[in-house]
Amino acid sequence: MKKGLMTTLTHAGSKITMPSTSMPKVAPLYMNAAYCFDDAETLAAVGSGEKEGYLYGRTSNPTNDCLREILTAIDEGADSQVYSSGMGAISMAVMSNIKAGDHIIANKVIFGTSFKFFRAELRDKFGVEVSFVDFANDDIEKYFKPNTRIVYMETIANPTIDVLDIRKIAASAHAHDCLLIVDNTFATPAVCRPLTLGADMVVYSATKFMCGHSDILAGVIVANKKSLIDHITDVGHSYGPIMSPFDAWLLIRSLRTLEIRIAQHSRNAMQAAEYFQGHKQVAHTLYPGLASSPAHKVASEIFSRGLYGGMLSIDLGSEKNVNDVIRNFKMIKLVPSLGAFTTTVSDTKTSHGAMTKAERDASGLSDGLLRVSIGLENVEDIIEDFEQSMKKVGR
Ligand code: PLP
Repeated sequence: MKKGLMTTLTHAGSKITMPSTSMPKVAPLYMNAAYCFDDAETLAAVGSGEKEGYLYGRTSNPTNDCLREILTAIDEGADSQVYSSGMGAISMAVMSNIKAGDHIIANKVIFGTSFKFFRAELRDKFGVEVSFVDFANDDIEKYFKPNTRIVYMETIANPTIDVLDIRKIAASAHAHDCLLIVDNTFATPAVCRPLTLGADMVVYSATKFMCGHSDILAGVIVANKKSLIDHITDVGHSYGPIMSPFDAWLLIRSLRTLEIRIAQHSRNAMQAAEYFQGHKQVAHTLYPGLASSPAHKVASEIFSRGLYGGMLSIDLGSEKNVNDVIRNFKMIKLVPSLGAFTTTVSDTKTSHGAMTKAERDASGLSDGLLRVSIGLENVEDIIEDFEQSMKKVGR
């Protein structure tokens, strides 16, 4: 019998079959909330893992799995999972591995919202003890307790651009049976692979350099053990912050050019850092690629192929100088993000606005600091915009 129009509209064309002669050149985008089954037994077998397949989009999706395969490979991990933002990934990695009464040791220089997540969510609401420690100048050994479960840090600290020896911190964490989680957002796997240095999990705001095009929010966890990701995936089914397949598809597109993008960000940043270093209005230039940087030695040991990334910070001496330099830019924009193809800047009060002034002071984050995300423009044009802006401020 001929079907009615509404039935045809809702059922026709719901199956795509590819001829065996031709394969799509790029991974297809599967925008699916759920999957169809012929019988309840097959659905149950897929649900229990006895049979391969997909059930429901909050847990898994073929496009996300394609992205996970790339992420696991480039970080030399065992498995990975993808979430809807960097904070989604960070909160999933941490909350899946702690309970009330446990203790976390975190570096005191980290992204402002990560700091706030530890302090205001985990400590103040969920009864998790948190020690914020100066990893660069203090001995973290003193802070371990029988209930310590996680050590948390960033490869390149936001916003001081400091680099710590992940190998040493991993050894301390493992001696106390703790997991080391490293936020590798600023570095990306093109600069550093923390899992190869002893970290247990690496997390990313893939919103930044991993995507590089400023068009999605995305978060990533890569782990050195499949069991860690299996557990996080299971917990994630309850919390629900899975990445949209559309964002996964765009991130796959972006990752295809990650290495060449980061190499160019790094080359531009190195030249910009050399320019800032000789500038009379810049009190300090914080960039690990500079031989004069206290982080240069360790960064040169743990970073790949002489690349130091696209992030640097400059100390302009005062909040007023920071505001004036921002106001006078002709090309560079103030953006509360980083890692895009264009050069952007952010002041400490924005990037670390989730911290109180007292917390920023205790973490040594001065209001005179300007964080610069060096883009892919011709470097002379980036320098020229700083030059003309700082000249006006210097007058
Ligand atoms: N980690 C770092 C180092 C960041 O700079 C940010 C955001 O700026 C995040 C995590 C959070 O990422 P998202 O904004 O994707 O949640």
